[in-house]
Amino acid sequence: ALTELFSARRSCTTCPYCGVGCGVAATREMTSAGGEEVVRIQGDEQHPANKGKLCVKGSSLADTLGNHGRLLKPRLHGVDCDWDTALDFAASKLRETIDEHGPDSVAFYLSGQLLTEDYYVANKLMKGFIGTANVDTNSRLCMSSAVAAYKRALGADAVPCNYEDLDEAELVVLIGSNAAWTHPILFQRMQAAKSKLVVVDPRGSATSEMADLHLAITPGSDAALFNGLLHYLAEFGALDQGFIENHTENFTEALYTAAEWTPEKVAEYCSLELEQLLEFYELFRTTEKAISFYSQGVNQSSTGTDKNNSIINCHLATGRIGKPGCGPFSITGQPNAMGGREVGGLANMLAAHMDFTADNVERVGRFWNAANMAKGPGLKAVDLFNAVESGQVKAVWIMATNPAVSMPDARRVAAALKNCPTVIVSDCVADTDTARCADLLLPATTWAEKTGTVTNSERRISRQKGFLPKPGEARHDWEIICDVASRLGFAEAFDYASAADIFREHAALSGFENNREQVRRAFDISALANISDAEYDNFTPVQWPVNAANPQGTARLFSDGDFFTPNGRARFIAVDPQCPKQETRDEYPLVLNSGRLRDQWHTMTRTGRARKLLDHSEAPELHIHPQEARKYGIEDAQLVRVESEKGQFFGRARVTASQKPGQLFAPIHWSDSLAHNATVSALAIPFTDPFSGQPELKQVAVKIEPLSAH
Ligand code: SF4
Repeated sequence: ALTELFSARRSCTTCPYCGVGCGVAATREMTSAGGEEVVRIQGDEQHPANKGKLCVKGSSLADTLGNHGRLLKPRLHGVDCDWDTALDFAASKLRETIDEHGPDSVAFYLSGQLLTEDYYVANKLMKGFIGTANVDTNSRLCMSSAVAAYKRALGADAVPCNYEDLDEAELVVLIGSNAAWTHPILFQRMQAAKSKLVVVDPRGSATSEMADLHLAITPGSDAALFNGLLHYLAEFGALDQGFIENHTENFTEALYTAAEWTPEKVAEYCSLELEQLLEFYELFRTTEKAISFYSQGVNQSSTGTDKNNSIINCHLATGRIGKPGCGPFSITGQPNAMGGREVGGLANMLAAHMDFTADNVERVGRFWNAANMAKGPGLKAVDLFNAVESGQVKAVWIMATNPAVSMPDARRVAAALKNCPTVIVSDCVADTDTARCADLLLPATTWAEKTGTVTNSERRISRQKGFLPKPGEARHDWEIICDVASRLGFAEAFDYASAADIFREHAALSGFENNREQVRRAFDISALANISDAEYDNFTPVQWPVNAANPQGTARLFSDGDFFTPNGRARFIAVDPQCPKQETRDEYPLVLNSGRLRDQWHTMTRTGRARKLLDHSEAPELHIHPQEARKYGIEDAQLVRVESEKGQFFGRARVTASQKPGQLFAPIHWSDSLAHNATVSALAIPFTDPFSGQPELKQVAVKIEPLSAH
């Protein structure tokens, strides 16, 4: 009542956390004459992803603002410097390294936190002008198996579904997803729709507690479960023969491979009761509108791509794709994992979803007027940091991410960075485990200041709009990249006046010589290539493709049964289920799983600032089943050490029946700089999926011991 509002400015932007991509209305208010400005955060009621709702992380965004802990000036070898000195250093080190050791001796490592415009110029600089495709991203750790599987089955990295399909579905099968915590707004939509929920997850979670059926499968056995489902659907006459014959190929091979997976064999392999398994299979067989909703539990595996394809196979076999309430729906973890892919944010892609074919290299080179195009794929994340360690990569620029914490065998990655001749880190915060390895730190803007676009899990492009001024000397990532490009001698190609300029070029490239008869390219937003600055500023969220055929965007793909493969047919993939590579054995008898908590985000550089969010879980905990706790003499809240072949993790035991015997769970958010030996990914051996390069982070063979009484 005492508040006298005399000024308020409202900006519509998007939440910087998960791939749901909720619309956020940020209002700057002056509370009284001469008083402090406050920021009020609400859900944007006009945004189709969330219709005004926000989860606890999104609604606490105002508590994460402020300059505490921010990097506000460039810092060279630990000493503040001016921008000219910093940019000259970055450009000269890159130039020296390229001249002496060739373009492949440099690498960029990007982030799903960057905006599409940032990603676009980083990719253009490396793949068009420096001449290497050594540009990868932390999205490799998150969804690259889903990308590889969509490309194998559907011909393109093209998510078929949209969020309205969740409203219409009668059955949602959540596989490897704790959506109630990790994608809460979508989980609320599922609950509101009153669809049947089946959760496939080795551990009990907030999501499984609300499920109609929880299948606590053996870790890593997902492909067997879905091979068995394919076999069951065929046995019980649930196939859509017309769809299979008219719109797919390779069905016979996939079914032949699945044939050995009888319900009895699947139940034994997956450690399920036969009745439970048959209940799931019957639900899927008899429910017309079914969505499979999957996330990191499927993707972060040495066979993640095959697991994805085993799920997609079941949708193709029943024609449950391209229809309302149906489809295989992979959900991204980060706010702009999809936007990064659109511009070639993965080392094996060029730009606008193009592969590295000779035609595409020539076409993109012509569009960019770039004489030094990369000719083939670069190093994927794990290989990229291996190359840093071996000395093959001698200069690396890391933007908005913390690989010294998030990569498998993370402490080895940190050591490799410390030994690397040149490490440049752009970030908004001054002190991360990765920033500590940097020669040069570049202060970048962050969520409340950045301006550009992001794409959420349903292919919806939205604006992220800064509503606060840049703090200190921080600059936008795209500006920093363009300034370095200019100093490298590429000023003309990186002469952008605004993020809108970059977006228009990106949109134009997506449709450049995109002849549907010859080039079946899914990602096409060419209808946005000529939008004005005002239209960009007032951008209405839209789902790609946005082209001449679909000028208002495309809510659902493949409604016509026409896929992006060369012959227009979707491909069944014959999947031979494999065990996780990190197998338990006498020395390491337990399987360590890891994941997110409800109230934290990544390495807590933002959420760690909000007291309310820390209250949910203040320190790293290690979840263990009571039987296992008894076996090792561990009591609740006792300090424990978990050890793998690669490293150790310390946490407080949380004895809970939500874990199965033989399995442990730890959160991913803490790092060694926040708590002693708290980096959980440091324990993982960096085995990767052969198709996607995604590392196996979910199944790590470990042992455990108690450390003290309490
Ligand atoms: Fe942000 Fe995701 Fe929560 Fe939406 S669901 S408010 S995008 S964290």
